[in-house]
Amino acid sequence: MSQVFHRHCHTPLRTAVRGDGVYIYDQNGKAYLDASGGAAVSCLGHSHAGVRAALHRQIDQLAYAHSSFFTTDVAETLATRLTDRAPGDLNHVYFLSGGSEAVEAALKLARQYFVERGEHQRVRFIARRQSYHGNTLGALAVGGNAWRRAPFAPLLTPAEHIAPCYAYRDRRPDETLFDYGQRVANELEQSLLTVGPETVIAFVAEPVVGATAGALTAVEGYYTRIREICDRYGVLLILDEVMCGMGRTGTLFAHEQEGIHADIVTVAKGLGAGYQPIGAMIASDTLYDTIADGSGFFQHGHTYMAHATAMAGSLAVLDALEQEQILARVNPMGEALMSRLKARFAEHPHVGDIRGRGLFQALELVFDRETKRPFDPRSKLDSRIKSAAMALGLMCYPMAGTIDGHRGHHILLAPPFIITESQLDELTDKLAEALDTAIAAVIEEYPD
Ligand code: PMP
Repeated sequence: MSQVFHRHCHTPLRTAVRGDGVYIYDQNGKAYLDASGGAAVSCLGHSHAGVRAALHRQIDQLAYAHSSFFTTDVAETLATRLTDRAPGDLNHVYFLSGGSEAVEAALKLARQYFVERGEHQRVRFIARRQSYHGNTLGALAVGGNAWRRAPFAPLLTPAEHIAPCYAYRDRRPDETLFDYGQRVANELEQSLLTVGPETVIAFVAEPVVGATAGALTAVEGYYTRIREICDRYGVLLILDEVMCGMGRTGTLFAHEQEGIHADIVTVAKGLGAGYQPIGAMIASDTLYDTIADGSGFFQHGHTYMAHATAMAGSLAVLDALEQEQILARVNPMGEALMSRLKARFAEHPHVGDIRGRGLFQALELVFDRETKRPFDPRSKLDSRIKSAAMALGLMCYPMAGTIDGHRGHHILLAPPFIITESQLDELTDKLAEALDTAIAAVIEEYPD
């Protein structure tokens, strides 16, 4: 029995021993096509020469220096690169070791900003029901996944949850996409007025929803309206790009495509591409200046923040994305993936929606396409698809979200940007087979 405390206590795992391009190899030499980049992490695949060389160089020179004693050239250069490219006045980068840490720091920075301004009564966040922002207590509080929150609910920071922008499920037949987007964005205003806008710190959202809803993009006009409402009531806008950022949807920052600016953005997964654990919170001038001119100290910090080796790795990741034109592959390869998914699944009796942006795409699975009824919540369709796919040598990311209190299922695809057309064929073939195997077994057990 393994002494590693794995997340699923009873599910034995294969042992990963080697990575090469878009493949991971297990202890028996079997190859797995990484169609989900792990969890939208491995944007460069598993053996990028430039990143490996940069990591070796940094470790040989200086692996780590505590950030309360020193900064490093790699941290300074990486911060400049990120802020040069970030929209608006996001000019201050706080480096962390992962996504939850980045979100946690964002929530605390937002709260401290208002404390510095004497607005102590601002104590709550507003976020969305179909969302995931991390597993630490603050991040869990803003996350909308009822199942993850339930055991810890009494420990969580106050947070309200409004509807996500989920046109496939919630748009009324007589509503245009635009009107639908305005209606759900206006829920933010209603929620603010219910709790009292002067008590709210920030609205938190993923520009493209990842883990809980499967590559769910907002409709046009939604984020413009959200920004207007935040401005009107003096509430901050925190955009969580931990999963959808760093090129995954075709631009370095996902919210560039929404034409709005944020007060804080969080990034992580693609920033390190899996070579080192890293996350970052990027804050606006206004927030930074208020704290710098006030107490002068953000009351936060972690031992490994701005870890030199992680900084060097991420800098090499950004070099690869931009100088090797790997980011430029995202849109064309995304189109190639989408056209394969549509060709294969548009008529599939249990695929209700095919959606996404760039190399961040998903299938939503339904028992009945007409009514959009999800599969039986007891079916564990997500776990069955994952097992069937792994047996075929395919890593995909099936998830169970919560839809009207039921578990709805979707499969997230987020392959490395270096994936080729023939590997996309392999992905689609294996996915179709895994899907049909798992669905056939579920329908036999839960026929209605
Ligand atoms: N925010 C989002 C949008 C995420 O998708 C995730 C991870 N799936 C997190 C935060 C938390 O990141 P981590 O697992 O690195 O703590």
